[in-house]
Amino acid sequence: MICIVTGVSGSGKTTIGTLLSEKIKLPFFDADDFHPSANVEKMSQGIPLTDMDRMPWLNHLAEKIQEWEKSGGAILACSALKEAYRSILQSVPHNFWIHLQGEKLILEERLRNRKNHYMPPGLLTSQLDTWEQPAYGLHLDIKKSPEELVQTILDHIFSESPKSHVGIIGMGVMGKSLALNMAEKGIPVAVYNRHVPGKEEKIASDFAAKNQQFPLLQGFDDLEVFVSALELPRKILLMIPAGEAIDLQIEQLLPLINEGDIIIDGGNSFFEDSNRRSDELSKKGIHFLPMGVSGGEEGARKGPSLMPSGNKAAYDLMSAYLEKIAAKDKKGMACVTYVGPQGAGHFIKMVHNSIEYGEMQAIAETVHLLRFGLKLSLPESAKVLRNWITGGLKSYFLEITADILEIKENNEFLLDMILDQAEQKGTGGWSIQTALKYNSPYSSLFEAVTARQLSANKKDRSDLSQIFHHRFRAFAEDKVLMLEHLKNAYALTRIINHETGFKLMQNVSDALEWNLNFSEIARIWTNGCIIRSSLMEDLAEFFQSNHSIFHHKALIGKIKEWKPDLAYIVGMGLQHDFALPVMSASLNYLLGRITDDSSANLIQAQRDYFGAHTYKRKDDPEGLPRHTDWTTLKYKQLNLK
Ligand code: NAP
Repeated sequence: MICIVTGVSGSGKTTIGTLLSEKIKLPFFDADDFHPSANVEKMSQGIPLTDMDRMPWLNHLAEKIQEWEKSGGAILACSALKEAYRSILQSVPHNFWIHLQGEKLILEERLRNRKNHYMPPGLLTSQLDTWEQPAYGLHLDIKKSPEELVQTILDHIFSESPKSHVGIIGMGVMGKSLALNMAEKGIPVAVYNRHVPGKEEKIASDFAAKNQQFPLLQGFDDLEVFVSALELPRKILLMIPAGEAIDLQIEQLLPLINEGDIIIDGGNSFFEDSNRRSDELSKKGIHFLPMGVSGGEEGARKGPSLMPSGNKAAYDLMSAYLEKIAAKDKKGMACVTYVGPQGAGHFIKMVHNSIEYGEMQAIAETVHLLRFGLKLSLPESAKVLRNWITGGLKSYFLEITADILEIKENNEFLLDMILDQAEQKGTGGWSIQTALKYNSPYSSLFEAVTARQLSANKKDRSDLSQIFHHRFRAFAEDKVLMLEHLKNAYALTRIINHETGFKLMQNVSDALEWNLNFSEIARIWTNGCIIRSSLMEDLAEFFQSNHSIFHHKALIGKIKEWKPDLAYIVGMGLQHDFALPVMSASLNYLLGRITDDSSANLIQAQRDYFGAHTYKRKDDPEGLPRHTDWTTLKYKQLNLK
């Protein structure tokens, strides 16, 4: 946008132009600074400029205006008293004209009060006589304060331009991709990024300027202006880091928005924080939608899986937009559903990521066994995974892993150049915390997180590997048979990993009375998200009438069939010095779930022996707590005193 502020001397062009420039973050220029040296010389001698003198200057300004428009816009202060001058400056289609006008007495007083500025008497009168009233643009009376005038200009600019339907705060990887996805699907979208002087400047306006092929995208570098560009009720999507940043951003928004407006947190916030924010914002009349988003950069751009929760009425206002941008399942339905109250959307995104942790580690263990146990090259390992994909184990993770195994950089496999140090942050730790809080066993997640923690200290591992002479030992067994065992072991690990995740959701849903719909959750995870797979499609159907994966008739048969394969692979792998944390944890979990007589009676006995913690007896239907004086019993039985 090019704003040209016109008016005679003393009308406040520089003051208004500078203030406006701060608000809409466009550079400010004074036309007088562009006079050619001949004009400057004349003016310094007090000789009035003729129209002939002004022509090269106005033509130069017209060129500059075209240049400024290409780089995102500018604000220009120029007296432009005659229509002929203004028509030269109209060198781009959409100049926004602001004409400052006022009574002669006010102008004279202002000019008298100017310091270090010589104003020849009579010049103001001559300028006022020359002024040709334009029939267009915004005419402002300079009686009002500069702040009031700038507010009127802002209101005018944004009432003239159509309001955006959705606003996005945070122009990082996800915010940018979601903004382009919306603009492409016909949703007018305004974007904003925080302004950090010297570091983060003009991020949003530059982004919009670089994407002019999307005319529905508007970029703003001032929060107030961004908010005023949104239609009511405002729908503001936060795509910024979880934690304090969300609270601070909401705090900054609150004075600018109204009751009934909607704030959507699309980041990976901890669901208990989202529960708190839901309660706090609802007291203020602001609707809050915590929303899990999955699919990474590509998903956000082309179609993510969306998990919104919170205020249902607000969801109904947002659903049409979310359905437009979400991925579609195999029946063509959008991969978005209202998940439940409060932070339920962030909760299920957290569990989604927990399943993701287990999936990634299970594949990493499998590929290690293929490479160092079965001695397959990377392309051979990729081929095995591709066979599994077509052989019933289709999943996004297997597909990208097969790609990764084959990709080379400078003739070397890129995987072998990557340092074997992984990190765990946010959702992994929160899920463990939640699994413990809701007493939900989740050993595959615990082990996947632990494996990343162990990997983090490379130096320690390298030192100890020397001390213990650790090396993987290849299997001597038949490769074809081993591959069959491994495929089944991997497939069963995935089933168990999904069961633990869905069980955690069941436990929390029951405790918080969220009434989560697992069939819908599995359905919105069948496309657009990272853990999409043929297994997930199967689960979407299954959960329509069932609650636990271990009661899935078809899967019970497979679990029984593949259990010996998992046990065999875990046993062989451990004996050959492979760490298989998720595979072995999954087997232990399965055995723990299907064992009738567990070893926990001994644990109870020990606790009662040393700490009088009591236990319940099998032969007591009421399950009353009992305590035994174990020492007395021991001495009695041994006839000791
Ligand atoms: P990103 O690329 O790091 O971008 C973060 C954005 O937040 C940037 O625009 C950044 O602005 C802004 N920001 C940082 N600190 C801020 C603060 N204190 N106040 C206001 N704005 C702040 O992150 P991202 O990958 O887009 O992720 C955004 C959110 O989505 C996160 O919660 C993330 O966990 C979640 N998420 C990410 C993915 C993924 O695959 N990347 C997938 C699903 C969900 P500056 O440029 O000024 O620093």
